Amino acid sequence: MPHSSFRRDWITKPIFRMAQHALPRLSDTEREAIEAGDVWWDADLFTGNPDWTKLLAFAPAKLSAEEQQFLAGPVEELCRMIDDWKINWDLHDLPPEVWDFLKSRKFFAMIIPKAYGGLGFSAYAHSEVIRKLSTRSICVACTAMVPNSLGPGELLMQFGTKAQQDYWLPRLARGEEIPCFGLTSPEAGSDAASMIDSGVVCRGTYQGSEVLGIRLNWHKRYITLGPIATVLGLAFKLHDPDHLIGNKDDIGITLALVPTQLPGISIGRRHLPALHVFQNGPNWGHDVFIPMDNVIGGVDQVGKGWKMLMSALAAGRGISLPSLSAAGAAFCAHVTGAYARIREQFHVPIAKFEAIQERLGRIAATAYLLDAARRMTCAALDDGHHPAVVTAIMKEQATERLRIAVNDAMDVHGGKGIIEGPLNYLGSLYRGVPIAITVEGANIVTRSLIQFGQGAIRCHPYLLKEMQALEDEDRARGLDAFDAAFWGHVGHSLANTLRAWGRAWTGGLMAPAPEAGAATPFYRQLSRHAAAFALAVDLALLSLGGALKRKEMISARFGDILSELYLSSAALKRWNDEGRQADDFPLLAYCLEASFATISLRFDELIANFPVRPVAWLLRFIIQPLGPRSRGPSDRVTDACAAIIVTPSAVRDRLTVDLYHPAETEGEEANGIALVERAFAMTAAVQPIRDRMQTVRARDIDQALKQRTITAEEATQLKAAADAVAAAIAVDDFAPEELTSRGASNKGDVSSPATSQASRQSTSEQPPPHQVPPFPAAAAE
Ligand SMILES: Cc1cc2nc3c(=O)[nH]c(=O)nc-3n(C[C@H](O)[C@H](O)[C@H](O)COP(=O)(O)OP(=O)(O)OC[C@H]3O[C@@H](n4cnc5c(N)ncnc54)[C@H](O)[C@@H]3O)c2cc1C
Repeated sequence: MPHSSFRRDWITKPIFRMAQHALPRLSDTEREAIEAGDVWWDADLFTGNPDWTKLLAFAPAKLSAEEQQFLAGPVEELCRMIDDWKINWDLHDLPPEVWDFLKSRKFFAMIIPKAYGGLGFSAYAHSEVIRKLSTRSICVACTAMVPNSLGPGELLMQFGTKAQQDYWLPRLARGEEIPCFGLTSPEAGSDAASMIDSGVVCRGTYQGSEVLGIRLNWHKRYITLGPIATVLGLAFKLHDPDHLIGNKDDIGITLALVPTQLPGISIGRRHLPALHVFQNGPNWGHDVFIPMDNVIGGVDQVGKGWKMLMSALAAGRGISLPSLSAAGAAFCAHVTGAYARIREQFHVPIAKFEAIQERLGRIAATAYLLDAARRMTCAALDDGHHPAVVTAIMKEQATERLRIAVNDAMDVHGGKGIIEGPLNYLGSLYRGVPIAITVEGANIVTRSLIQFGQGAIRCHPYLLKEMQALEDEDRARGLDAFDAAFWGHVGHSLANTLRAWGRAWTGGLMAPAPEAGAATPFYRQLSRHAAAFALAVDLALLSLGGALKRKEMISARFGDILSELYLSSAALKRWNDEGRQADDFPLLAYCLEASFATISLRFDELIANFPVRPVAWLLRFIIQPLGPRSRGPSDRVTDACAAIIVTPSAVRDRLTVDLYHPAETEGEEANGIALVERAFAMTAAVQPIRDRMQTVRARDIDQALKQRTITAEEATQLKAAADAVAAAIAVDDFAPEELTSRGASNKGDVSSPATSQASRQSTSEQPPPHQVPPFPAAAAE
């Protein structure tokens, strides 16, 4: 018997009734998305009073000895085997030996437990592998990513029956089966749940016996590994018109494993995603019959496909693309710092120009931030969390920041970044960014609907409890639960109003912070912004209610603030975990100052655009009485960050740790990255000699030698460094007829590329012949 009280019966009850009518009901797909995964540090941020000691005490991610050996052994070996230029422009596929290596060394089985023959790696190890591969070849990284992300392997482990796990997982682990996952169809992209791909429960013949099963019809597109997959994880809507498995006609989204050699399947055609040639393409099924046993999880799991997908995505989204993005940003820092140091214009290295330093500083800080967030998120995943909101933040923020870092890198490289050829080490990454932006939840949707939309419900200390109470069919129990949650919520809002006001009006000076040396003020500012965020969330929920869902621009700004709070927490944790090294401090300062500026700006925009004006005025008065005050990183901090990546040092090494460093020649080709690395090292080594020459204003090496400012040995060193620079700044060129003939011969035929040798000239040397890029069919027309 529920207890009765004055508060519950006379105050809460009318609010309960009003809220039941006011709040829109969640659709099934929304509810399943919200229920997927769990919450972690994101929930602390929503309290308005994050417990920093808890964050700092959280154990950082670590690799086991076995995982380290895998990185030093098979991963290095694989990187050495890869010729990205050849893969993309000549073979249009990974060479057979790379495919074999990926399968035999279990790159496709990083997440499959050892008991099934997989590698059973931690999230951090998985991330480190993808990170290193990404700095060698986007194509190979994407290929290795997919079987370890959302797909048959993950779904079988989470939801498969014992029999399915025993059959499929060892086959996947041994590389005998190549999996892919088909969700997207032409009519259903971001709104994947609207798919029209269908399955009908019926009886049919499978391997000679008549069994209960499903007749499938589908058209999927953009499916990675699809063209070569042997098993397709398929999402479709299941119908049971004859009620063979229950009493419902429309059962809902269901996931099944479909062997791709079954009759009725067309698979093998390929897309060319941004001219990257990892296997990706459409597939179709016409009246394909599969037994009921092929439904992932068996007949008990029919109709639960969306929930299964959301749950699998909750973890996977936090690993693959954030790892690729962190790798990409570190790679940009590594090569762009080096290039800016060796490239001279107006008789000085371009790294000396302030406008270039502005870009270099941003690249360096982005590399620091993304790797900090990647490590922290992996640590959470390895600790058993599946924080769906955190992984949505990671996916969107990491790929967006990669886009900025690559653009900066391209701008600093000028023509050197644009001219394609084996010497170009940026073009492939640049072309790959939109892919990362689009897959696993296109960024606009992720930013404007998911981060805050899901976050507000999932991470808020009371909102989900209130919503569940409102939907409780036992009204008395619902009222009791609502009473507890609602008054807890009121207390939470009042506390945050006082916190937000006090912290804003004192400039955050009194806000809580752990003793963290020079970083202590950053914690105080974050505590201040977290309180303002929590208050703004409550006011928005109270005044807009369900309408907030449609206010995507408002929601996106909340998403940005939440993301900044998360990423900044990660940067602070990294600095702490790495022993608070003073040399790294400019990077931390840049990240935090940039974050405060974004947060202040987003609050300002929120207030200026908030539809309920009195609420906006109240918010302005409490959290931002003087408008946005943060200006972002100072020129001094930016300059210090830029300096880190233009000089060899331990800080630079920490920032760009564990990237793949190619040999100077890989196969027949001179390697662009290695040439820049060599020129950078030699330029830095001869700097003292050049400084000496400058003091006596020596015009060139010969004059300095004559004046005896330098020795003969030093003259040789200077000449060698100049040659190394000339080789590093060289770009590729091709004979026109070879490009034309190649384009024509390849028209519309990506599976059998013509191969012709081209001659190439560079400004510094005559490198060996190489394969010429084919133009895509459309360009050749
Ligand atoms: C290279 C590549 C590999 C892929 N691999 C796979 C795979 O292996 N398996 C698979 O199933 N799928 C795969 N996909 C599909 C991918 O998940 C979809 O492309 C993605 O979900 C977006 O769908 P769409 O391209 O149809 O864009 P659309 O859904 O048409 O979206 C277009 C734009 O509108 C925005 N938008 C849509 N709805 C809203 C909204 N409500 N509010 C605000 N903005 C909105 C989107 O963010 C996007 O910017 C792949 C795609 C690519 C390009």
